[in-house]
Amino acid sequence: MFESLFQKSIIDILPKVRGKYLKNVPLSKHTWFGVGGPAEVMFIPQDIDDLSHFLINKPYNIPLSIIGGGSNLLVRDGGVPGVVLKLDSPYFRRYEIKDDCIKCYAGMKNIDLKKIFLNNGIGGLEFLCSIPGHIGGSIKTNAGCFGKCIKDVLVSAEIMDSTGKLKTVYPDDLKLSYRHSLFPDDWIIVSITLKAEKADAKSIMETLDKQKEYRIKNQPYNEKTAGSTFKNPEGLKAWELIKKSGCDKLQIGGAKVSEKHCNFLINTGKATAEDIENLGNLIVEKVKENTSITLEWEVKKIGINK
Ligand SMILES: Cc1cc2nc3c(=O)[nH]c(=O)nc-3n(C[C@H](O)[C@H](O)[C@H](O)COP(=O)(O)OP(=O)(O)OC[C@H]3O[C@@H](n4cnc5c(N)ncnc54)[C@H](O)[C@@H]3O)c2cc1C
Repeated sequence: MFESLFQKSIIDILPKVRGKYLKNVPLSKHTWFGVGGPAEVMFIPQDIDDLSHFLINKPYNIPLSIIGGGSNLLVRDGGVPGVVLKLDSPYFRRYEIKDDCIKCYAGMKNIDLKKIFLNNGIGGLEFLCSIPGHIGGSIKTNAGCFGKCIKDVLVSAEIMDSTGKLKTVYPDDLKLSYRHSLFPDDWIIVSITLKAEKADAKSIMETLDKQKEYRIKNQPYNEKTAGSTFKNPEGLKAWELIKKSGCDKLQIGGAKVSEKHCNFLINTGKATAEDIENLGNLIVEKVKENTSITLEWEVKKIGINK
């Protein structure tokens, strides 16, 4: 644990806040892979002013990482030094509907949008409900599925920079592309406004049901995974390259390639982050050997090795 390394807790030198500081938080409980060491400190700001106050007064040499729902993250076994920010207070889980737009705060779970869409007749955004994770993470990764991604529906986003200043940015500023955005790493996404369409509850429910059915049939469901491990190289499918290179049955320790979709890696229960990272790296190596193509990780890796 970090305390033995650092003697004193860094909480002693962090600014006083109204939100919560939590020490040595096991990040395995905050990520879908269910692996990884602790956050030295997790900070859950109470609201936007609390977050701004923290950023203005945080000693510059204490590293800050941001997590959302942890569905696209591999946290290494040695954990994450410094502060891990999670926008997990009620303030950051709100939404506002105005005209044909919905403003969602970054800590909202995508799945919670389902009820809001059904109750308010909001359509055109159903794809988001089936993507695990939180709103903030969705825009950072320009999440998408079923032929749509955040880029197609984004009106604007509110971000806070590392000096605690809030500003509004627009799609053109962000250069959203396939699973990528131009958000500098020290920008914190606070909220996003999405363009919606009017729809009736029956058609929304039909779309949601079809999406769920597709996922259950074609992807690992209720498994410890972080979704697609590698981005699709332009014009190609990562899973096809993985299969063609004979990697679809690989296993290292408790980490294995999913039998249902070979671009998904699974923690079978006893995997370490190292098992998962090594398995991913082995796939990259073998695909390169067989096809000359270098797969790029879609899953984000944070923290230090044990
Ligand atoms: C079973 C399964 C299926 C999946 N299917 C899809 C799919 O169909 N399409 C798809 O696009 N993805 C898919 N994913 C991947 C994942 O759900 C998405 O990438 C999701 O948008 C990540 O959101 P998150 O909140 O979990 O982010 P995290 O995993 O917590 O973080 C991802 C990145 O976003 C950053 N981040 C998070 N919140 C903020 C914030 N507020 N401000 C700034 N940066 C932030 C983190 O620092 C990190 O770099 C799937 C994952 C799983 C487990």
